[in-house]
Amino acid sequence: MTNRPPAHPLDAPLSALRGVGAERLAQLARLKLHTTGDLLLHRPRRYEDRTRLRPIADLALGQPAAARGKIVALGTKRWRGGSKSVFEFILEDGTARLHCRWWNLPFMEKYFHPGDEVLVYGRPVSLKPRTLDHPETEMVEVGEENFIHLNRIVPIYPLTEGLPQRWLRALVWRVLETYEAQIVEPRPGLIGSPACGPASSSKKPEAPSLPSRADAIHLIHFPEQMSDVELARQRLALDEFLELQLELQRRRQTLRANARGLPCAGDNHLIKPFLKQLGFPLTAAQTKVLREIRRDLGGPQPMRRLLQGDVGAGKTVVAACTALMALESGFNAALMVPTEVLAAQHIETFRHWFGPLSIPMELRTGGRKTSNIQHPTSDVERGGLGHSPTGNRQPATGNTLFIGTHALIEGAFAPDNLGLVIIDEQHKFGVAQREQLVRKGCYPHLLVMTATPIPRTLGLTLYGDLDISVIDQLPAGRGRIKTFVRAADKLPKVFEFIRGKLQEGRQAYVVYPRVEESDQGEIKAVTRERAKLEKEFAPFQVGLLHGRLGPEEKERVMAAFRANRVHVLVATSIIEVGLDLPNATVMLIENAEQFGLAQLHQLRGRVGRGAHESYCVLVADIKTAEARQRLKVLEETTDGFRIAEADLKLRGPGELLGHQQSGLPPFRFGDLSQDGSLIERARRLARQVGDTAEKT
Ligand code: ADP
Ligand code: MG
Repeated sequence: MTNRPPAHPLDAPLSALRGVGAERLAQLARLKLHTTGDLLLHRPRRYEDRTRLRPIADLALGQPAAARGKIVALGTKRWRGGSKSVFEFILEDGTARLHCRWWNLPFMEKYFHPGDEVLVYGRPVSLKPRTLDHPETEMVEVGEENFIHLNRIVPIYPLTEGLPQRWLRALVWRVLETYEAQIVEPRPGLIGSPACGPASSSKKPEAPSLPSRADAIHLIHFPEQMSDVELARQRLALDEFLELQLELQRRRQTLRANARGLPCAGDNHLIKPFLKQLGFPLTAAQTKVLREIRRDLGGPQPMRRLLQGDVGAGKTVVAACTALMALESGFNAALMVPTEVLAAQHIETFRHWFGPLSIPMELRTGGRKTSNIQHPTSDVERGGLGHSPTGNRQPATGNTLFIGTHALIEGAFAPDNLGLVIIDEQHKFGVAQREQLVRKGCYPHLLVMTATPIPRTLGLTLYGDLDISVIDQLPAGRGRIKTFVRAADKLPKVFEFIRGKLQEGRQAYVVYPRVEESDQGEIKAVTRERAKLEKEFAPFQVGLLHGRLGPEEKERVMAAFRANRVHVLVATSIIEVGLDLPNATVMLIENAEQFGLAQLHQLRGRVGRGAHESYCVLVADIKTAEARQRLKVLEETTDGFRIAEADLKLRGPGELLGHQQSGLPPFRFGDLSQDGSLIERARRLARQVGDTAEKT
C-alpha cells in the first residue's frame, strides 16, 4: 500500500498527529472526528470566561458559574451495604469553601487528591454549605499549557467517555497552530466585506462584516471576547448556507443544461369548459399563480415550482387547471398525495370536475394497485406496453391523469409521455421522493404544493431550487373559524356545544392526534373513544377513521361522512391533510398540547370550508403557562405564516416539516430558526458566484 498524501492538509487523519494514540483515536471517532478538518469544526457547546472566575463566596443559588480552588478534604460515604454512595470533595479558594458531590459514582474518588487545583462548573443547589451536585471539573495542572486553559475564555466541548476536556482543548489548540494558515477562503473575495450582491446598494442596513473563515475557526474555539463567538458562528453558518445554495443552484443548472421543457402550456380547449362549469370564479391569487405556471409550462426549461397556500386557499383547483394544460397539450399528468384517503377524495373531486370533459383517470394507491376510474376512450387501446406488468392498458389518447399515493413512485408505474408531475402536500414527502417521481418521465414539469406555510427562511433553504408561487388570498364567502383552548375538565361543556351544532345539521371532527398509526394499543384507545362518543352523541352517528383501516373501509367511512350519514368523525391525524367537507364545522382536538402549532393549524383547516361559522376547540393538558401561551397563538390568529414562524421559534424546523422531510443537510453552525438574513445573504452570494461563472 502506498501512502499518498491527503489531497488537502485539513483532510489529514488525526492519527497523523503527535500524541494521538489508538485509544484517543477511538474516542475521537465516537465524536465523528476523523480529520484535522473535523476537529477544527468541532463546535464547543459552551465557553467559560476564566479571566474572571467568581470567588466561591460570591456564588449564587441556582446560577451556573465556574470557580477554582484547592481540594482541602475528600471522601466517600456508603450505605445500604455499599450499593449507595456519595463522593464529595471540598474546594477552598481563600474566600469560602465549596462542596462538590457525586452520587453513586464511587470511582470518582480515584481522580482527585488533597491539594489538587480544580476548576468546577455547576449550579449551586445550596449555599449552606455551598454545594454543587455533579459539577463539571477540570484539573489545573502545573505546566506550560496553562495559557490555553486559564486566564482566557476557554471552549468546553462535547466529550465522550474517557476523553478529558483539557486534552481535547490542547489538541485543538495544537491543530490550530499548525493548520490555521492553511484554512482558505472557499470563495476568495466573496465574504468578509459587507458588500455582497445587489442588496448592499439598497437602503437596507448593511450586513455585519464577518471574519475570514480562518479567523472564524480560530475564534469559535478561542474567542478574545464573548461577542467573537457569535460573529464566528455566523461566518461558519454562512459558509454552510452558501454551500447548500450553491448545490441547489448546481442542480438547477444541470437541469437547464440537460432538459428542454416539454410544450405543455395548452390551448384552453379543456380549461375553458372546465372553468365554466366549476361553479365559482377563481380568486385573483389563483389566476395570478396560474399565469406564472402557464409561462413555465410553455418555457424552454421544465417547470420547477412550489405552490404555497394556506389551508383552504384552493390549491386543488390550481392543480386541476395545471393538469388540464398538460392534458390539452397531449401529455399525461400525475398527481401524488400522501394518503389513500386524500387520493380517494381527489379522485372524487376530479371525477366530478373532469367527468364532463371525458378525461381518462387512473387511481394508483398501495391498497389497490390500479383501477381505471374512467375510460371513455378505451375503445382505442395501445398494445404491447412493455412497462405495464399488471396487464392494465393505458388509453391511446396519451392524456390520462394519474392520481395516487407513493405507489406512483414504485417500480411498475412508468407512463409514456409524462409531461407534468404534481405533488400535493409536499411537506409529507422528502426531496428524494420528489426526484424519484420526476425521473419517471423525461424531465416533466414539476409543481409541488404545500399547505404548510413555510417561513421564507426555510423556504429558501429547502426549496432554493424551486420558484415559489403563493396563493395569498382565501376564496370569498368563507365562514370564520373561532378557536378556543380548553382544559380537559371542560369536555362535557364542549360535547354539549357540539351536540348543539349537530342539531343544526352540521358535522364535526374529533381528532386524537396522539394516535400513531403504527401503534396497535393506540388504535384500541381511539376505538374506545369512539364507543364513548357514540353514547355521548346518540342518536347521531359516529364514524371512525385511522390509518390502519383497509382502503375500502376508509372509503366507506369517508363516503358516509360526506353523505352526512355519519355526523361525527373520530379520527387520528390522518385527516390532517387535504380533506374538504364544507358542512363539517366543528373540530375538536384532544391532547392538543402534544402537537406542533403548524400541525394543529392544518387540522383546524379541515373546518371553515363552507359559509357556516366554524369552531376549533383545542382540549389540552395545560399545566404550564408556557403550554398555554403556545396554544394561544392559535386562538389569536388564523394566519398560517405567523403560526409557522411561531412554531419554528418554539420547536425548531423538524416539527414544522414533519418527520419524513429528508432533504435538509444537518447544520453544525447554522440555525434555521434565527438565521433568516444569513440564508438570504447566502442566496445572493450564490447568485453572484453563478453570474461570475457564467461570464467566464
Ligand atoms: P387547499 O388549498 O387547502 O388544498 P382546497 O383546494 O381543498 O384547499 O380548496 C378548499 C375549498 O375551496 C374547496 O371546496 C374548493 O372547491 C373551494 N374553492 C377553491 N377555489 C375557490 C374559489 N375561487 N372560490 C370559491 N371556492 C373555492
Ligand atoms: Mg389541499
